[in-house]
Amino acid sequence: MSLPIRVTVWGEYRHEKTNPKVAALYPEGMHETIAASLRGHGDLSVRTAVLDDPEHGLGGTVLEETDVLIWWGHKAHAEVKDEVVRKVQQRVLAGMGLIVLHSGHYAKIFKTLMGTTCSLKWREANDKERLWNLAPSHPITQGLGEYFEIASEEMYGEPFGIPTPDELIFVSWFSGGEVFRSGATWQRGHGRVFYFRPGHETYPTYHQKEVQLVILNAVRWARATVNIPDTCPNSPALEKLPVDEQAAERSTQGHR
Ligand code: ZN
Repeated sequence: MSLPIRVTVWGEYRHEKTNPKVAALYPEGMHETIAASLRGHGDLSVRTAVLDDPEHGLGGTVLEETDVLIWWGHKAHAEVKDEVVRKVQQRVLAGMGLIVLHSGHYAKIFKTLMGTTCSLKWREANDKERLWNLAPSHPITQGLGEYFEIASEEMYGEPFGIPTPDELIFVSWFSGGEVFRSGATWQRGHGRVFYFRPGHETYPTYHQKEVQLVILNAVRWARATVNIPDTCPNSPALEKLPVDEQAAERSTQGHR
């Protein structure tokens, strides 16, 4: 049996403490609802971390021991320490998978990895969302039909300030008329990144089975298969090289 995929679900965990509506939907926090939906699967080992933990719960060996990091943040992006963002970025480049959810489009780690504004249009008005499956052969969409719907959600609309995705997995239609690239992937270094749009905190989105299935599929797709930390080595030649006469000349003249 292969080793379990080690998943860390990171939650900002602030709305749940201040907004009774969010607390009623997610009594243990949104991150715990997402984690619970993953824990029933024997190939996964799941832990959680939150903003107010020391080092945001990502210190010590946590990142090294994480194959896929799931990220939900919203109103406290600015409180995430740059040093932690740098470590997460390095770990993604070395091979860790990263799944960024909903308002995480403005998380420091997502903006760092994308290099663009990551801005969008938004509206909280109980739109219906229909997510069209653009990639029925992709691992992330297995078990889904041609589309699925979320009865009420916040609207996100184009233009979405992301670099052109490597793969476009979902496009959403909203009842107010907008469309949005709601599922997209990018390779960054040795790591895989998946952005998945649904999940505004005042709706029961993470209790919905199709949403849970997409996140489960994405975890399996994005799992780290290598861990190759960045280096930039001076490298000896593998073959005997011809002597560079000019370099030898420069060397005897004291130039470089
Ligand atoms: Zn939202």
